[in-house]
Amino acid sequence: MDYSERTELELAHSVGNFDKQQIPGGVAITGSCPSCRHTFTYPIIFEAQLITPGGSITGQSAGRGLTDPAPKYLLRCVCLEDHPGRPADGSGCGAMAYINIKH
Ligand SMILES: [Zn+2]
Ligand SMILES: [Zn+2]
Repeated sequence: MDYSERTELELAHSVGNFDKQQIPGGVAITGSCPSCRHTFTYPIIFEAQLITPGGSITGQSAGRGLTDPAPKYLLRCVCLEDHPGRPADGSGCGAMAYINIKH
């Protein structure tokens, strides 16, 4: 399949079945992309990715969770297989999703 950047609801729904491994400051998510069927591992770093309504980055001292009880994190397919049309420095098939993660 060709590379195309888009948000995939199916990817968001699949995350419940993905492996989650704790890494420093976040979690590494491993699973099979529902779009291209390739397995990938994507590290999510909580503090670096937390999206607040003002678009700012929330640090630990800013009282995380107060403004948004369900912060969303961007997950994207970063499989190492070939997808035509992908930028030279890119990875994956372009599928991405905003997901909730408890931490
Ligand atoms: Zn792929
Ligand atoms: Zn993919």
